Order: sequence, then structure tokens, then C-alpha cells
Amino acid sequence: MTGLLTEADGAPVAVENREASSPVLLICEHASRRLPEKMGTLGLSPEALSSHIAWDPGALSVCQLLVRSIDAALIYQRFSRLAYDCNRPPEAEAAMPPVSEVFEIPGNAAISASERRVRTEALYVPFRDELEDFIAARKASGRPPVLVTMHTFTPVYHGRQRDVEVGILHDTDKRLADRMLSVAGKTKRYDVRRNEPYGPADGVTHTLIEHGLKNGLLNVMIEIRNDLVLDEVGQKVMADYLTGLLGESLASLSQ
Ligand SMILES: [Zn+2]
Repeated sequence: MTGLLTEADGAPVAVENREASSPVLLICEHASRRLPEKMGTLGLSPEALSSHIAWDPGALSVCQLLVRSIDAALIYQRFSRLAYDCNRPPEAEAAMPPVSEVFEIPGNAAISASERRVRTEALYVPFRDELEDFIAARKASGRPPVLVTMHTFTPVYHGRQRDVEVGILHDTDKRLADRMLSVAGKTKRYDVRRNEPYGPADGVTHTLIEHGLKNGLLNVMIEIRNDLVLDEVGQKVMADYLTGLLGESLASLSQ
């Protein structure tokens, strides 16, 4: 079986502002709720397919505002994490999750080894390769990028309200995260916390490890509570906040 994606689906990965002047490379693995045509609905209701289990609402819009405000580059996955979660390695069950929060995903319940391979080749490999190529090219030109992965999370999870508004997540390299938490602590504009509502133990630092840590690059993962970025006004307010937070943090690191 070759090729999951049809011509109508288009490419799996999108790149914006490749020649950006800022070192910041924004990465959005959960940008889209779209499923490849051939996958149908995975047996899910329209409600589930538009919910946070399919994508990170608001994350791509915030990234696109940051592309302009800080002149950053952006690489994002054009298909839903229900087809393949690009922040997980192929061997992880969570790469094609059979259950997400309270939703069972029938189309992911019993995936054969060959279908796992097809999805991996169609969605994960091109995403991984685009990141690798971008980073290698920037390093070769003497401008190593700073990796910032952008996510949003649901305000209510398994029936429990979450108070944290912005999570600053890191794996073993916490240089940038430490600066951002220190800068955020001065203004107290949002409830900003370290490694919440997820952390490395939840497997969410896959992209940071593969592309940041292994290349010795500054890196951080940002998690925004999605009720703050559901409309354009909220997205603009958050993007302005992050523009300042990233700018001040990176400036203090380069001193
Ligand atoms: Zn996410």
C-alpha cells in the first residue's frame, strides 16, 4: 500500500517564512484537525472531530501572529494528531491513540503494523525530515535556530478544571525555560507554571529531544490553555504576551 495522502489532501508539512531573520523556529505538531481523505472520520462524531482531541485549537493562529511579530520561521503538520501525533515517536502507542481523554477512537482501535507504517511514512517522516533539513541548513549558515513548540490544552480535563494558563515545558535542557519563567514571574500577567499541565514523564518532549537536545539548540515547549486563544482577540493578546516574553528571555540569554 503506497501513499495515504491524495492530491486533494496536499502536502503533510507546511513551512512559513523560511528565510526569517529571527533565530526562532516555531513548531506546531497539532495545528490542524483535518484528517486525510482516505481515513474518513475514524468513527468519530463531528463533535469529537472538532474537539481538542483532534488538534490544539488556537495554536496555529498564535504561531502565525508570532511569525510576523518576531519574524520567526514556522513549520507545522497539516493533519490531525488523530491520524499521527507528530510529537510522538512511531513506536509509541500515543502516536496513533486508540483513546484520547474520554473519547474512544474506533479507527485507531486495532491498527495493523502495515497501516502504522503507512501513516508514519506519510505524516511523521516528512515532518521529522523537514525539521532536520531546516535545522541543518540554519546550522550550516552559522545561524543555529531556537526551537519553540506551540501547543494548547483543554481547560477541563477528565472533569477537572485546570488553573494553569500557560505552561513552560522543558526536558533536560532548561536554559530557555528558566529564563522565560523568570521573566513571566516578574509581570504575573498569567498563571505561568513549569512543566504543567504536562511534563517530560508524559512523553510530550519528543520533538524537543529529537531536534533540540540532540543538536544542542535552545528549546522550549509552550502550552496555552485554549480558552484564552479561541478567538482572534485572545490570540492577538497571547501572541503579544509571548512576543515580549520570548524577546526578553532570548535577549538575556545572549548577554
Ligand atoms: Zn499539542
